[in-house]
Amino acid sequence: MQDHLIFKNIIEKKTPANIIYQDETITAFKDIQPKAPVHILIVPNVFIASSNDIHKKNKWVIAHMFDIAVQIAKKENISQEGYRIVINCNKNGGQEINYLHMHLLGGAKLKSFS
Ligand code: AMP
Repeated sequence: MQDHLIFKNIIEKKTPANIIYQDETITAFKDIQPKAPVHILIVPNVFIASSNDIHKKNKWVIAHMFDIAVQIAKKENISQEGYRIVINCNKNGGQEINYLHMHLLGGAKLKSFS
């Protein structure tokens, strides 16, 4: 598991990243090692470690992340063909960075895992 400071520094613009959207609640930027033609990460500006840390008081942030993910998908022209939204959690879920983030993947037929 990598340290959450990587994403904190991107949000605070201390580390360079290709930020495509930012508001007072969330930041979206291109994944540095894209696994699909479109691969964007969406993160809350306030630190949340993983989906295990979503609760009554911060769950609205997740709804906002979804809302913006769909808006970005439309802007990137992948909404009609389709896309995948993924949140990995902890070791077995494949979460490498200890900072809640949503993957928006699309632009090609993605491998089915079911
Ligand atoms: P996860 O495995 O769900 O924790 O995903 C972490 C993602 O963060 C991976 O897809 C990485 O390629 C991506 N990543 C790591 N460092 C950076 C960075 N500096 N800028 C953009 N994406 C990054």
